[in-house]
Amino acid sequence: MRVGNLYGNQTEPIVSFEFFPPRDEKAEKGFYTVVDELATLNPDYMSVTFGAGGSTREGSFQAVKKMMEKKLPTVAYLAGFGLSPDDITGVLDRYKALGVETIFVIRGDEPRNDDFKPHPESFSYASDLLGFICDRYDFDLGCAGYPEGHVQAESLEKDIECLKLKQDKGARYVVAQYFYDNDYFFSYVDQCRASGITVPIIPGIMPIYTVKLTNMLCKLCGSVIPAGLKGRLDALATADASEVAALGVEVAFEQCRDLLVRGVDGLHFYTMDRSGSVTSIVQRLKEQGLLK
Ligand SMILES: Cc1cc2nc3c(=O)[nH]c(=O)nc-3n(C[C@H](O)[C@H](O)[C@H](O)COP(=O)(O)OP(=O)(O)OC[C@H]3O[C@@H](n4cnc5c(N)ncnc54)[C@H](O)[C@@H]3O)c2cc1C
Repeated sequence: MRVGNLYGNQTEPIVSFEFFPPRDEKAEKGFYTVVDELATLNPDYMSVTFGAGGSTREGSFQAVKKMMEKKLPTVAYLAGFGLSPDDITGVLDRYKALGVETIFVIRGDEPRNDDFKPHPESFSYASDLLGFICDRYDFDLGCAGYPEGHVQAESLEKDIECLKLKQDKGARYVVAQYFYDNDYFFSYVDQCRASGITVPIIPGIMPIYTVKLTNMLCKLCGSVIPAGLKGRLDALATADASEVAALGVEVAFEQCRDLLVRGVDGLHFYTMDRSGSVTSIVQRLKEQGLLK
C-alpha cells in the first residue's frame, strides 16, 4: 500500500493510526489486542514508529511483520539518527522483503543514553536520509512537519524551508506534529503552499489521555496548550482517569470535526497504544456522518 497514492485520490478523508512497538514480550499481548480493536474501525493504514539510534529496530520490525501477516495496511517508520548507511539499508531491505511499500522517514533525536555513539556517517537531517533512500529504493516516502515549528528550528520559516527540501528529496506526504489549536495547522498549510510545498499535509491528532502525559509531551514537542484547554485540564487536577479521558475525547472530537469541515485530506491519530479514546472519537465522527 502506497500512502502517497491514497491522499488526493480519495473520496473520503484518510484515517490512520500510529503505534509504537511493544517494549517487551509482556507488552506484546496487550499491543496486538489494541491493534485488533482499532483495526475494526477500518483505518486506511496503520503505522509503527522506530526508536532513534535503532533502539526499537527489532521490535518495530516484528510489529510491522505481524501486522502485515494480519493483512493490515501497514507503514513502517525509519528514524535515521546515529545509524550508518549500511544500518539503514539493512533495515530497509528487511521491510522490502516483507512487502512494505511506504516508509515514513524521520531523523529522530539523540537517545538520552550517554553511552550511545552515533555512527560517524549517520545522516544529519531527514532530508539527507530521504535523498539516500530515494536513490536506492522504490518506497513511497512520508515525512514529518511541525505546524508550530520544530523545537530546534531557528524559525518557523526556516523549518518550512527544510520541509520543502524533504519534499524535493522524495517525500510524497507530510504528517504534522499534533497541535491543539487548528488555526496553527491551517496557517502552516498556507505558509507551506506559499513556499512551494504541494504534497498533502495531514493533521496529527493526540487525544488527551492523562494530564501528566499531555503536559510532558507538549513540553517535549513544543505544542502549545491553549489557555482555555489549560484551564479545563487544571480543573481536573484531582479528577480520576476516566474524567480526563472523557474530556480528551470531547476535545479531540471537536477538533477533528472542525478539521474535517474545513476540508483536511485525512486524520492521523497518535494512539499511544491505547484503543479506547480513538475508538470513541472515530465512532462519534462516523455517527455524525463526518467519516465513513
Ligand atoms: C508524525 C511524526 C512521527 C514521528 N515518529 C518518530 C519515530 O518513529 N521515531 C523517532 O525517533 N522520532 C519520531 N518523531 C520525532 C522526530 O524524530 C523529531 O521531531 C526530530 O527531532 C526531528 O525529526 P525530523 O524528521 O522532523 O527532522 P529534520 O527534518 O531533519 O529536522 C530536524 C531539525 O533540523 C532542521 N533542519 C532540517 N534540515 C536542515 C538542514 N538541511 N539544515 C539546517 N537545519 C535543518 C529542522 O528545521 C528541524 O529543526 C516523529 C515526529 C512526527 C511529527
